[in-house]
Amino acid sequence: MASMVHGTTSDDNTAYRALPSLDRLLAAAPGLVERHGRRECTDALRRILADARQGITGGQPAPDSAGLLDAAARYLDARAAPRLKRVFNLTGTVLHTNLGRAVLPDEAIAAMVEAARSPCALEYDVDTGGRGDRDDVVNALLQELTGAEAATVVNNNAAAVFLLLNTLAQRKEVIVSRGELVEIGGAFRVPDIMKRAGARLIEVGCTNRTHPRDFEEAIGPRTGLLMKVHTSNYAVEGFTASVTQADMARIAHAHGLPFVEDLGSGTLTDLERWGLPHEPTPREAIANGADLVSFSGDKLLGGPQAGILVGRKDLIGKIKKNPLKRALRVGKITLAGLEAVLRLYRDPDTLAERLATLRLLTRPRDAMLAQAERLHGPVSTALAGWPLTVSIEPMLSQIGSGSLPVDRLPSAGLVFRPQGRRSGVLNKLEATLRGLPVPVIGRIADNALHLDLRCLPTSDEAAFLAQLTPGFPAC
Ligand SMILES: *Cc1c(COP(=O)(O)O)cnc(C)c1O
Repeated sequence: MASMVHGTTSDDNTAYRALPSLDRLLAAAPGLVERHGRRECTDALRRILADARQGITGGQPAPDSAGLLDAAARYLDARAAPRLKRVFNLTGTVLHTNLGRAVLPDEAIAAMVEAARSPCALEYDVDTGGRGDRDDVVNALLQELTGAEAATVVNNNAAAVFLLLNTLAQRKEVIVSRGELVEIGGAFRVPDIMKRAGARLIEVGCTNRTHPRDFEEAIGPRTGLLMKVHTSNYAVEGFTASVTQADMARIAHAHGLPFVEDLGSGTLTDLERWGLPHEPTPREAIANGADLVSFSGDKLLGGPQAGILVGRKDLIGKIKKNPLKRALRVGKITLAGLEAVLRLYRDPDTLAERLATLRLLTRPRDAMLAQAERLHGPVSTALAGWPLTVSIEPMLSQIGSGSLPVDRLPSAGLVFRPQGRRSGVLNKLEATLRGLPVPVIGRIADNALHLDLRCLPTSDEAAFLAQLTPGFPAC
């Protein structure tokens, strides 16, 4: 019978002694030290040895050196893996906020790398040697593309709206239609932003109908501005009426007030050219009399995260003088990417090829069908043990990020349906795909897992398949 010493048995003591020392383990793993550094390896091995001792106390045998080093390597690799993982977005939503919205064109990526690697003339005028303004990096391009007098760029569109309200309407009233009190993804609500910016919201009209006279009657001595918010993530249908940009501008200007519009998504070109539904552009808003327009950089525009304000020079000037502009400004990497993206808009003939977002949005269904044909065989083989059927089916993608919420784009992809009543298998497959080194994110609907291939460029197909074959986990 084993005697007890401080809660451990003498068998335990023998097992503890069988564990190699930390130094011996470190010496046996030069590759690990090279990959992760001595300190990381020491910490990891200490942890693994402590686990092993605890295991022994719990009655498990002592692992050998190889087992310990294996465990340490797994632990270290997991620690070293980036937390911000690349994924395959097969959700069918092109501009997926939770998956980082727009993917950037090569031109922007190159410019961002260059800006990251080297010093750049961010706020420096190389012609005069004097101080420059970082907005000048994109100011001329934005004027050209929107017809506005001036522009400024901040962290995102929420920041742009906040900054414009805080600058032009603090302690004043802002009149907005009840049909346009938008919530975007929970965290951005027009009334909340308004309050934080110090402006007082005056709601006019009804959810479905607002008329010019509603605005006219609401204007008073404390009115700061009239605001329109693009109802980007929903549509009011049926018996509806809203006040046009031109009418809003006319009413505002008759009272000496600015008319501003939060456009949300800001495409700089007419999407109808590529058979996509029309989305209002900043140029139209400016032409219709808007004094300021705000929009996102990473929605339909297809650039990096940013909030862009374009409009009257005097108003942009005031906004740039607000100390909060400094708190909300963008860095050189964002500006470099944005500049490169904006430049692509100068040539509409090549835009759909070069602007990654537009390239995805304009992929014809046939391209995804052909891709589904190529993938169907290997994917079916990889999932042979799973009680599922795999089929090629047409489906509908959406643009996402609140753009054109009711319009759908004809697409195609792979659909996995459980055989019999094994509905748990769908969740298991979804989790398994999510657990791959490059997680594959699909969408479960109507008791099937859908992988919409719109956002899997042909150049990514091999990487996608490599994860499935060979050795895709069994069910
Ligand atoms: C998306 C959106 C916003 C928020 O823009 P972010 O760039 O995500 O901050 C604000 N207003 C409208 C109408 C939007 O569609």
